[in-house]
Amino acid sequence: MTEEHVIIIGNGISGITLARHIRKQSKKKITVVSNETDHFFSRTALMYIYMGHMKFEHTKPYEDWFWEKNRIELKNGTVSAINTRNKSVLFENGESINYDTLAIATGSKPNKFGWPGQELKGVQGLYHFQDLENLEKYAPNNQVCKRAVIVGGGLIGIELAEMLQSRNIPVTFLVRENSFWGNVLPQAESNMLNQHILKHHIDLRLGVNLKEIKAEANGVVKSVIIKETNEEIDCNFVGLTTGVSPNIAFLKSSELETNKGVLVNQFLETNIKDVYAIGDCAEQRDAIGNRKTIEAVWYTGRMMGETLAQTICGNRVAYNPGHWFNSAKFFNIEYQTYGWVNAIPSPGNKYFHWMHSNEEKCITLEYNQETKVFLGINTFGIRMRHEVFDTWLTEKRDINYVIHNLEKANFDPEFYKHYERDIQTKFNLDLAEKQI
Ligand SMILES: Cc1cc2nc3c(=O)[nH]c(=O)nc-3n(C[C@H](O)[C@H](O)[C@H](O)COP(=O)(O)OP(=O)(O)OC[C@H]3O[C@@H](n4cnc5c(N)ncnc54)[C@H](O)[C@@H]3O)c2cc1C
Repeated sequence: MTEEHVIIIGNGISGITLARHIRKQSKKKITVVSNETDHFFSRTALMYIYMGHMKFEHTKPYEDWFWEKNRIELKNGTVSAINTRNKSVLFENGESINYDTLAIATGSKPNKFGWPGQELKGVQGLYHFQDLENLEKYAPNNQVCKRAVIVGGGLIGIELAEMLQSRNIPVTFLVRENSFWGNVLPQAESNMLNQHILKHHIDLRLGVNLKEIKAEANGVVKSVIIKETNEEIDCNFVGLTTGVSPNIAFLKSSELETNKGVLVNQFLETNIKDVYAIGDCAEQRDAIGNRKTIEAVWYTGRMMGETLAQTICGNRVAYNPGHWFNSAKFFNIEYQTYGWVNAIPSPGNKYFHWMHSNEEKCITLEYNQETKVFLGINTFGIRMRHEVFDTWLTEKRDINYVIHNLEKANFDPEFYKHYERDIQTKFNLDLAEKQI
């Protein structure tokens, strides 16, 4: 009997986790296809390569010999279509390979919204390794790139700003919202970040949209025009960081049901037998709890890969991501979030907010006004322990308990200044004033 052949399209965190975990549990033939890099690397570390903190080699979690030793075949190529009737994957160069089981793990692509000039040279997103190569071409230093404009104020936008700034390239940052990440963060936190960004000499423009990108005669970007004011800003590089969406255009002709992403159930199964989707490109048909149906974050890709490996190896398991968490860095400020803190409290909920009087540190907790049950925390500048908040969320602890046990969650080293007392004093004050 020939071995079952599993083809995984995509060698990012979700595809590679799947391949590794299938290999741990079985002898199946595994082929991982990618058109990006020969070997898996950490996308989240892309910024550190440009900033000179790491070489590309350092971003590869596994040595190059690992794949052959573990009989995981790596194939470089672009998949242009899949045929689920004869179970084959078709490549741009005309080749085709048959599968028994197929996993689609093709990740995301940067959004573009049809702006005039969005395809010019020197205009790009920051997602794939090739984006880093183009960034080196169009923004290697401040002689070649006298100014860069970044469009879109999210997590990748701020990373790109920090990267360019590390090479002393002046940056103008166009943000549609009236405050940085104001559609995600409570106002006080977003305000703190506005100030922090300005302090890093970024020309932050809030409440503005891109109208058009203009080119030199050679097709390289020369300026952008702001929609609201018609102001023209000269620049040699434009970063488009207005979010990402699932990278699934090649599935158009297939019989797979798609919406924004490949539609899957909680077992990561598509509408076609033996075809699954995981990672950024998968869209849950029904949201799991309060979670979004598409989650473009690293750890969910890894979790989906681990889960699907079990199913493919004969133990059908549902994907269960647990409580939401995430972390990021805004220049020098570390951010973590556990559970749900909304940009404005959900109906029936309230915030408890503490901000340091002169350091860039704050926390916001959302809780139910009636039951006082703790629902989530955002923390800036103070590191907290994931497992502690995960437990408290599961145990549905009340806000009073959380505030008075915060030191159990603090992850900063002992010699760091601690702020629990300050936070508890503010909480007791709010309580006395019947604000809680
Ligand atoms: C700059 C940056 C910073 C980030 N930082 C964080 C962070 O700090 N924390 C966090 O949680 N998340 C972060 N993310 C998001 C995180 O990296 C992604 O959620 C994650 O990498 C997605 O993994 P994936 O395996 O689903 O897809 P991907 O990593 O996108 O891998 C998919 C692979 O499939 C390939 N592919 C696509 N289509 C085809 C095709 N037709 N044929 C062949 N190959 C194809 C792609 O080229 C790619 O190599 C960041 C993302 C970026 C871009």
